[in-house]
Amino acid sequence: MKTGKLSLLGAVVVATLITAGLLDRMTQDSVSRFSFIESAQAAGGMVKGPNEIAPDRYVYYPGTEVLAKDEVRVVACGTGMPDARRGQASACFLFEFGNGEKIIFDIGTGSMRNINSLMIPAEYLTKIILSHLHTDHWGDLASLWAGGWTAGRPVPLEVWGPSGQTPEMGTKHAIAGFLQAYNWDYQTRAYKITPIPGSINVHEFDYKAVNKVIYKDKGITVRSIPAIHTGDGPVSFIIEYAGMKLVFGGDTSPNKWFVEHARNADFVIHEAFGTPEFFVKDYNQPPQLAWRACCEFHTSPQAFGKIMSTIKPRHAVSYHSFEEAFDGIRAGIRETYDGPLSVATDMMVWNITKDKIVERMAVSPDRASGVPGPTRQPPPEKGVPDPMSDFIKSGEWGPGFNAQNELLDAHSKKYNLQDQDWRKQKPWYKPGK
Ligand SMILES: [Zn+2]
Ligand SMILES: [Zn+2]
Repeated sequence: MKTGKLSLLGAVVVATLITAGLLDRMTQDSVSRFSFIESAQAAGGMVKGPNEIAPDRYVYYPGTEVLAKDEVRVVACGTGMPDARRGQASACFLFEFGNGEKIIFDIGTGSMRNINSLMIPAEYLTKIILSHLHTDHWGDLASLWAGGWTAGRPVPLEVWGPSGQTPEMGTKHAIAGFLQAYNWDYQTRAYKITPIPGSINVHEFDYKAVNKVIYKDKGITVRSIPAIHTGDGPVSFIIEYAGMKLVFGGDTSPNKWFVEHARNADFVIHEAFGTPEFFVKDYNQPPQLAWRACCEFHTSPQAFGKIMSTIKPRHAVSYHSFEEAFDGIRAGIRETYDGPLSVATDMMVWNITKDKIVERMAVSPDRASGVPGPTRQPPPEKGVPDPMSDFIKSGEWGPGFNAQNELLDAHSKKYNLQDQDWRKQKPWYKPGK
């Protein structure tokens, strides 16, 4: 069964189990030429025969693992740049807690493809906490909002995000504008499906608050600290659960709040940008912009390393760059930090407990999508206005619709829908063939 599954998935992505130090050693010793994805470095173990499995294939198959109560699983659902590409989405980290709660920290452009590949029911993906309002950190909210609605989410989304210097620069304003922009989408889904899952409840908090609680529920506490990034508003988050301290850093240049409040954390995610040379060569940026992008309003690898060697986390994670910049990033970080490190790429997974931190790669077929959960979505609501006029309805071509009758009759019978037969009000309806 296991080998069959491996071949079915074509699992060529393999991963490294790390506890403190192991990854570091491997990175330096043997595998720098493969160092795009650190997790790909130590797959296998000894294969004892031609029909034997590789014993140490450190892979996470989504939907196959129950978390222990005091465990957290973090999945990198986006680690790249604003110009998302097929292989790497923009910023997004899903935190799954042993108590069953799931929180999405940032939901950058392209990240829903990765989130969907984890095969989680839409009803469990309702909480999103945003570090700031750059599209590479919330550009796929639309996909979760509409896709989850269509896939059966029964409740509204809950979005936490920072205020801004003025109300127009804050999360409340952004979400109100979002709903305005997607009004046609909202009205049509509200009528055809049900309206409640299309609502978004916004929880805006003060971006200047230092280590104040912005979320507290079921043993999970999230605090916010200010970040320094292109304008007022961006923040980072300190997450406490089961006696552990985890940190999700949004975009920021090195700042004193991070160094103070992320100190001695168990698991710290912080951006580390590509080198100025990377931006000149791969991004076609003028050198004058390149050294500001990496190092004025973001954090360079050297600065990332300095932060980590100061705060000394059990495990550090860098993100926010394309994989071809990773060699430069790793080399830069190692100038100033020699502790446990992951240079994150999409679908990297960490299981975190007080005893150990395990890094793997999630492996999932391209066609994977959210699966049904136990809760039924409420039915269509009466009173929602029909967004389709009689003029458009008059264009319905009867022979085409009636050609489906056999199919629909069978469906109606199977699910007892006789009293909800929408065809009966149609002028073109001819029962049977
Ligand atoms: Zn940003
Ligand atoms: Zn960003």
